[in-house]
Amino acid sequence: MARALTELRLPVGFAGLEPPATWPRPRSAPRPEALEAGVETLPRVGPAVRGRLAKLGLRTVRDLLWHRPRRYERPIEEKAIRDLFGEVEAVIEGVVLDTTSRRSRGRLKILTARVSDGTGEIKATWFNQPWLEAQLVPGTKVRLRGKPNRYGFQVETYDLGETTETADYAPVYPASEALAQKQLRALVGAALEQVRAEGDALPASLATSERLPLRADALVALHRPRSPDEAERGRRRLAFDELLVLQLALARRAAERGRLVAESLPDAGALLTRYREVLPFRLTEAQDRAIAEIDRDLARTTPMQRLLQGDVGSGKTVVALYALLRAVEADRQGAMMAPTEVLAEQHFLTIEGICAELGVRVALLTSALTAKEHANVRQLIASGDVQIAVGTHALIQKEVGFRDLAVAVVDEQHRFGVEQRSALAEGRSPHVLHMTATPIPRTLALTVYGDLSVSEITAPPANRKAIVTAWVTDDRSSEAYERLTRHLRDGRQAYVVCPLIEASELTVARAADDEAERLRRAELKEFRVGCLHGRLKPPERRSIMADFKAGEIDVLVATTVIEVGVDVPNATIMIVQEADRFGLAQLHQLRGRVGRGAQQSYCLLVSGPKEELTDVAHDRLEAMVQTSDGFELAERDLEIRGEGQLLGARQSGLSDLHFTRLRQDTALLERARDVARSLADEGELAVAVERILGGSEHIGDS
Ligand code: ADP
Ligand code: MG
Repeated sequence: MARALTELRLPVGFAGLEPPATWPRPRSAPRPEALEAGVETLPRVGPAVRGRLAKLGLRTVRDLLWHRPRRYERPIEEKAIRDLFGEVEAVIEGVVLDTTSRRSRGRLKILTARVSDGTGEIKATWFNQPWLEAQLVPGTKVRLRGKPNRYGFQVETYDLGETTETADYAPVYPASEALAQKQLRALVGAALEQVRAEGDALPASLATSERLPLRADALVALHRPRSPDEAERGRRRLAFDELLVLQLALARRAAERGRLVAESLPDAGALLTRYREVLPFRLTEAQDRAIAEIDRDLARTTPMQRLLQGDVGSGKTVVALYALLRAVEADRQGAMMAPTEVLAEQHFLTIEGICAELGVRVALLTSALTAKEHANVRQLIASGDVQIAVGTHALIQKEVGFRDLAVAVVDEQHRFGVEQRSALAEGRSPHVLHMTATPIPRTLALTVYGDLSVSEITAPPANRKAIVTAWVTDDRSSEAYERLTRHLRDGRQAYVVCPLIEASELTVARAADDEAERLRRAELKEFRVGCLHGRLKPPERRSIMADFKAGEIDVLVATTVIEVGVDVPNATIMIVQEADRFGLAQLHQLRGRVGRGAQQSYCLLVSGPKEELTDVAHDRLEAMVQTSDGFELAERDLEIRGEGQLLGARQSGLSDLHFTRLRQDTALLERARDVARSLADEGELAVAVERILGGSEHIGDS
């Protein structure tokens, strides 16, 4: 009987008696996973375009959706052809009558189309877009944005169908030479069709009370605004989301850390007294203060999570070594981790001598070692024979088992992912000191490092003289080299930084070699010139660095590999070639290689003629001349660029921020912080939190 009844039931999903086990998803439901699809799933994206997009950091559909326009085109008036005058930018709409094409003497391909709109006729011209001719068949409707001139109408952008390119407030994206703005706009347009897949992590009540648009609407507004206001409202919504997620991530991290236990270290004793004696200088007040803060952390049973922030050359390494020696004194181990092999080697060179004097056993662990050496060093670390190990993050994170790691120093690492999981499993965590020279204004440090305590080295050692920075154009570069040779004759050393070229590492290396060779024959004939770049085998690199340090090389011609960590106080002058190509943070880091001793140091920035530079490059070089204070430069960089990307790829959690304008969003940031306190870290928000915490590596992972 019962069976018959069941059979009589209506199909589930309609007005049946029993609900289905799982409801089918409505077609409009968010599918955030769809946005993980690679860009090649979009129409007309083959391997070549995919490669060019990857160069801009755009790999998935989501990346395209999140590619924030740099600015928007100005709105301009649509005019009848009859009413065009002067050279005033305008939009016209009409029909193609016919086309012709030719080549100019400058080998420019010029395509001309006669266009009529009923009020008149004009010759529209395009340069170097020969393929377009096939599309501009007579009768085609076109919408053109450009400028009338004496020959006709020079086209800047055009639409053959829907109005996008020529629209008011068309988005202008950070693009590249290989990827035209038009193509990028089209691709973002294709990605926008999937915008509803994004989902909306904010509880609706919150969106309402904060007066924020829906997330998908915000993305549409960002890419297709009808007014600047609309674009800005969209951007703010997106910025709010990411700040909120960042705050939740910080809170989660802080809570996780709160549960960890570390062993407290006994007070500093004889080893550290000797350390102070062995140092060829007295610690500065700022260094002593940082050390006192570290001492206090190490006495506790919650693991230290401290950020040591200080400008380039301010003397962080000495403080870091102090922390490592605290571990050694307690008969435990220390680890020093750097983001690159070069930097790890630098750190090793710096601390090796002092450690030898103190009788502390240090080892460098990099992939430059043979497999056998590598295994041997790992074994010594595992047995505790090595008391301080220096290496890259990856090595120490992935392969190495310490006998008893007590203190880890992490230099310039991405914000998240600094736990040692294996230690966690044993219920014991190392004390961690993070170091950064990236100048982050204080207010931002609070956001991005919200879960760390911060020590700041505010002033450089007192014996320092401010570096003199000069900006010269290349017609006067011989004077720069004259000054450089004067330093060399006085027994000082120097750097010449090669132009930043956007090419493969191999081309960059060749260019550096060529430049070194050229200088050996010309300006620097009488001196010993070494060349350092990323393509050198590690042993070669190490021996060049060691020679430079020992004064056996006078001039180091180098690529930006010397940007961080190189410490040769006798080097007192640096020439940066084509300095206008470098970012401000990068120039500042480079300059930090000189001015490390008591001697007056110089940094000479060479650029092309001033009138040929972009405004931004001009402002950057001016800022470099005016101040050598990293924090001030960071602020300037924000002003010059109007946004918070100053901190570059190597950056902390700031690299997770796509939409935030750090300077102008302070209020938004505080809102996000308040809201984060009252929100549960669950559902889609939790997924977003995972996304930024997720990609990180963990010390001790295997
Ligand atoms: P950072 O890592 O902050 O860039 P370093 O720790 O490498 O700076 O220090 C830069 C230079 O200053 C090094 O040559 C170092 O030996 C020297 N130095 C550090 N502390 C002092 C001090 N208190 N007095 C004089 N020189 C110092
Ligand atoms: Mg350093």
